[in-house]
Amino acid sequence: SAVAPLLSVEGLSVYYDQFRAVHDVTISVDAGEIVSIIGANGAGKSSLLKAIIGQVDRCDGKIMFGGTKINDKATSAIIRDGIVLVPEGRRLFPSLTVEENLLLGWKVGRRNGYTLDEVYELFPLVKGKRRQQARQLSGGQQQMVALGRALLADPRILLCDEISLGLAPTVISDLYALLPAIRDRGIGIVLVEQDISRSLAAAARFYCLLEGRVSLSGSPGEFDRETITRYYFGS
Ligand code: ATP
Repeated sequence: SAVAPLLSVEGLSVYYDQFRAVHDVTISVDAGEIVSIIGANGAGKSSLLKAIIGQVDRCDGKIMFGGTKINDKATSAIIRDGIVLVPEGRRLFPSLTVEENLLLGWKVGRRNGYTLDEVYELFPLVKGKRRQQARQLSGGQQQMVALGRALLADPRILLCDEISLGLAPTVISDLYALLPAIRDRGIGIVLVEQDISRSLAAAARFYCLLEGRVSLSGSPGEFDRETITRYYFGS
């Protein structure tokens, strides 16, 4: 379409010293869209997310958000603008309560984001445990807290790094079942996963990374599983 996407990454390369971990990657994400980024271990998924939020030392290419180039912005400013990361491994403060962890995401000067009550509506299980220490929750519940904390930061784009890692299949299903409601509030969601099936099923579009490059992209329905697997492993 003629309207620029909310977030676009154009010709991005990420370097660690001489090593180029991401090679000329171009992706876009719109408001109210779920986009999946798949790729094997080491394909460059985390490096791509880190570059978007200004957490890599060296990258080339252009990162545009809401019509503005954000390459040179500080991470704190990027988050304030509305690109919020749900980090791999959840990164909660284990000895703080669930509610204290959630409120760390709470942001002043909000647009139209989730309130604490709305987060509890989304995760009733978490509400019941709001006075407990985060460490007492199961992995799935902790992931819900991490997601809730990100929602309280009033995201326009949510970057989810391996949110299903280490969780039981039913817990992953519960988590993924919540994504459409978040998307329908106009939030763009980027799902970075090694697990192909779930994220492809949830996404309108996907990008497959292989050794730092986009090896395949499109809508998941365009390709059979065998084709996607081939571009995932590069064999
Ligand atoms: P994973 O699923 O394991 O998180 P990934 O697809 O997210 O993998 P990255 O973590 O982005 O991949 O790593 C891409 C490549 O860059 C890998 O070869 C990795 O070893 C390398 N790399 C990542 N971070 C650094 C770093 N800080 N210094 C040097 N090399 C790095």
